Amino acid sequence: MQKRLLLVAVVLALGLALSEAAARTLDIFFIDVEGGQATLVVTPAGQSLLIDAGYGGRGGRDPDRIMAAVREARIDRIDYLLVTHFHPDHIGGVPDLAAKIPIGTFIDYGSPMGTDRMATNGFRNYEPVRGRGRHLQPQPGDRLPLKGIEADIVSSAGDIILKRLSGGGRPNPMCETFDIQPADGTENFRSIGLRIKYGAFRFVDLGDLMGITLASLVCPVNLLGEASVYLVPHHGNYDANVPAVLAALRPRVAIMNNGTTKGGAPDSFATLHAQSGMEDLWQLHFSLNDGARNAPEQFIANLDEGDSAYWIKLSANEDGGFSVVNRRTGFTKVYRAGR
Ligand SMILES: [Zn+2]
Repeated sequence: MQKRLLLVAVVLALGLALSEAAARTLDIFFIDVEGGQATLVVTPAGQSLLIDAGYGGRGGRDPDRIMAAVREARIDRIDYLLVTHFHPDHIGGVPDLAAKIPIGTFIDYGSPMGTDRMATNGFRNYEPVRGRGRHLQPQPGDRLPLKGIEADIVSSAGDIILKRLSGGGRPNPMCETFDIQPADGTENFRSIGLRIKYGAFRFVDLGDLMGITLASLVCPVNLLGEASVYLVPHHGNYDANVPAVLAALRPRVAIMNNGTTKGGAPDSFATLHAQSGMEDLWQLHFSLNDGARNAPEQFIANLDEGDSAYWIKLSANEDGGFSVVNRRTGFTKVYRAGR
């Protein structure tokens, strides 16, 4: 009798362990910071990587919004904070956020060039906060030390990877058909870009990368391979609208972290809607820009600027399938594995 009870207990425990393993997903919160970036990645092993921290000031608005996602994700520390570049819509929220939650390791490309005034102030406030944690300054080609996923740095400080990522290496026929914006002297073209791979699922986040640095990742050869999900760089500005990038990545889903009028250029919308094989465009905001062809409202997290800020949450499985939820409405779309 006792043996039988023991057997039942073992079977129950095994069942629980299996269902827990099956429920493990890579979760990504695209937090609304009104046209900046704050993207919270929680790995299947429970490690956290925050990519940028939105704006500073405004009564701590963006750190509060990040903390709301942190609570939903049930984490109590940011293991890694990756700063794509030193502009105020990416770095500004760091000091206030660091006062609210422990941050383990700061990841960035060192320091701004010094020619971009927009980056100088933010960096001055950020540097002492970074000094209280560990600091990583990765080169293109480096992999971040996260367990259970592959997080590969593809660009940093204006340099890009020399070798293709897994799945990359094909010539890109779209490379002859567009004008490349030159580097504009700002920090944007020095953004850290990365690809996160969890099994067959691949997510590409290139910060505010634009112009020649952005194009070089896929021209003349596609070094990145394909992506399941693509975060549209530079909030969908005209200078990050490079059709050859979309042609190379062939994303199933693109997500734009635009504001009501920030980013979201009409040409960017046009390119995204014309991309064959793309199933949906999701937006953090409805764009009020003239000529902007917004996605249907169910794919838009916030319809106006305001006190309420809803995130888009993505959960990915190892088989490559994923789901995306609009926090405003609860609308959920499942993208099954197989492509
Ligand atoms: Zn930005």
